[in-house]
Amino acid sequence: MPMNFQPFDPSHFLIMVVDDTTPNLKVMGSILEGVGYQTTFAMSGQQALERLATVTPDLILLDWMMPDINGIEVCEMLQANPKHQQIPVIFLTARQDRESCVQAFETGAVDYITKPFHRLELLARVRTHLRLKDISDRLQASLHAVEHLARTDALTGILNRRSLFEFAEHQFKRAQRYGHPFAVIIFDIDHFKAVNDDYGHLAGDRVLKTVTTMVQSQIRTMDCFGRYGGEEFVLVLPDSDHRAGSILSDRLRKDLANLPIHPIERPITASFGVAAYEPQDDHIDTLFNRADQALYHAKQSGRNCSFLCRLGTRSPQFDNCREITLHIPEPAEPNG
Ligand SMILES: [Mg+2]
Repeated sequence: MPMNFQPFDPSHFLIMVVDDTTPNLKVMGSILEGVGYQTTFAMSGQQALERLATVTPDLILLDWMMPDINGIEVCEMLQANPKHQQIPVIFLTARQDRESCVQAFETGAVDYITKPFHRLELLARVRTHLRLKDISDRLQASLHAVEHLARTDALTGILNRRSLFEFAEHQFKRAQRYGHPFAVIIFDIDHFKAVNDDYGHLAGDRVLKTVTTMVQSQIRTMDCFGRYGGEEFVLVLPDSDHRAGSILSDRLRKDLANLPIHPIERPITASFGVAAYEPQDDHIDTLFNRADQALYHAKQSGRNCSFLCRLGTRSPQFDNCREITLHIPEPAEPNG
């Protein structure tokens, strides 16, 4: 997001004035509204806090001495609330002593103006703090945007390889510590190079995006889906064992083979490799290696199929996911 600084327009800002003296509110209102600010008023600390449940001002001008909750207490409550702590607070008070001024800043106020005040000075300070708030908001938004870009794949909008591994490592630690199972599916679109060669790279991109959307519609919100690179994708499935991973894998395989993708005239298929956490795994890489081996086995077996790779006694065991979903028996009910 570019940081374009627009001309300052007071009508874009809402200022809350809190004061227990009606004439003060009137004077403040006419000064602020006179230059175009939007205003909202509260006659006590309590009323200000209630008002903040429904409006979010861009700045608060706060009296100190009020009968119920005083200004310092209001300021403390604002600071304690994540929803309100970003709102700049300027004290506007008759207290002239230096200790009060310091206390106001220490409580979180951004400025301190003593009564009687000068109209132009008040407006200058308000404007300065609104500008600073605006810059800070924009920086925050840019930071969020950058963080989002760093985590996602630009073409498909799903997680990139780095974020996927972070998620998978987190699941691996959970599995080691608490025994929660999880499964990994790696799939690779078959003959993708031929799609690019025959239809062009824009059509190839469309295939990747359409496949992404289809898969996203078939998984749970807790599952993690990302692009591994090129035409290879990964799913990390928390609380899923061999069987759950195999079932999902083969369902996705079938759905994909039946998915029309304009302008591709032949079916787009993919080969799938599945692995699930086993207590002998000592590193996430061993699990990804098994899923990779299963995917390789699927490619070698003619593509458009899914294989599960389990730890065997001597070498990895490969099971066709279609057969697995049909033949793995449910655990037997204990007798008696
Ligand atoms: Mg007062």
